[in-house]
Amino acid sequence: MPHDLAPMDLSDATSAELADRAAALNAAYRNHSAFAVMSRAMDDPSVGTVALVSSFGAESVVLLHMLSVMDRRRPVLFLETGMLFRETLDYQRDLAERFGLTDLRLIRPDDAALAAVDPDGTLNTRDTDACCAVRKVRPLEQALAPFDAWITGRKRFQSGTRAALEFFEPDGARLKINPLACWTPEDVRDYMDNNRLPRHPLVAKGFPSIGCAPCTTAVAPGEDPRAGRWRGKTKEECGIHFVNGRMVRGPAPKADETMGETIVAKDIVAEDRGVEAPAPELAADAPAAPVIARDDGFSAEDWHAPFDALADLTEAGAAAVDVPSDADPAALAGRLDAARIIRVDFPSFSDGRGFTIARRLREMGYTGRLRARGVIADQYAMARRSGFDEVEVAPQLAARQPEDQWLARAQWRANDYQARLRG
Ligand code: SF4
Repeated sequence: MPHDLAPMDLSDATSAELADRAAALNAAYRNHSAFAVMSRAMDDPSVGTVALVSSFGAESVVLLHMLSVMDRRRPVLFLETGMLFRETLDYQRDLAERFGLTDLRLIRPDDAALAAVDPDGTLNTRDTDACCAVRKVRPLEQALAPFDAWITGRKRFQSGTRAALEFFEPDGARLKINPLACWTPEDVRDYMDNNRLPRHPLVAKGFPSIGCAPCTTAVAPGEDPRAGRWRGKTKEECGIHFVNGRMVRGPAPKADETMGETIVAKDIVAEDRGVEAPAPELAADAPAAPVIARDDGFSAEDWHAPFDALADLTEAGAAAVDVPSDADPAALAGRLDAARIIRVDFPSFSDGRGFTIARRLREMGYTGRLRARGVIADQYAMARRSGFDEVEVAPQLAARQPEDQWLARAQWRANDYQARLRG
């Protein structure tokens, strides 16, 4: 089918229909090569309109080359986060010219959103999830809106979370196509060698996986190829392969459910700008007081003594203490044993200083109860990895993000990439 032949109208597919379609496509394409999956899927009416999303990273040249052989007029989306290496931008221009790609679309973060949450370009140092959300996830969501499916270069060998990767998977409101799912590192290398394809210039400098400059380091021989991504942090994925913070493996949420999460995020951004977000009406069964979120869900507050200011904590006696986000944890040195519970404040969604405070307190030997206040469900996994035991959830937030949304993030250990590496 020529690529400009109108595909079926797939825009109203439900999540169940998408899952069924992905399963049928996986069955039909089971024995196909990567090239065949990609070329046939692009003209398959049950797939619909397709775009290739490319990072122009270490292995991106494979799919870009395949696409140029099939039809160089196909749309290619390139996320220019504003944080990429100069070498990546040069490589992108070189490949686009070499392959004659005629529909390359540079996708950039929204200026207003950046001004609201990352005005000085340092959000990645405080909160990588929020930074990826504003620089990658949301721009890509918008860029993908006209398409029914997108092609990625993900492969099973890349990490444990990709070990069961299929050619087709439901991804929110559309399909995701992974033609290289079954390829090994040797397959990638052979394809590049056989087709004499140019390597990303940073590969020779020890970068087998390349993302944004502030979040990518070289890896040592023998290290996992993705160990240089967000090194020292527990983050493993940028979020563009997740829906609502979770990897999509089975039936995906319906489009409007996904948008529901986006609306919540907008509310939070509004709060972050100092603009008052409209308060949702509290349901009859919504909590009237803060609840405590832990790995097993919500529970009622069980600490009934007052919290003291940091300055009031003495070496004598058990106490609860409030720690503001701009506190220096060193101020608690020598007094940590006196604190049975420490509550760290997060004044806004994009202020990640509390995570650093938690890590420092644990490094200093604090073994008592550590609570975060002001954290949203999307940040629960990060809070737990940082050393928090629990999150205090205000009634309004609990109404917007009820218990099931927090429980969905409670499997935070399963995605703890750095912990698995250490193990
Ligand atoms: S990879 Fe780093 S710099 Fe790039 S969007 Fe994510 S956190 Fe920000």
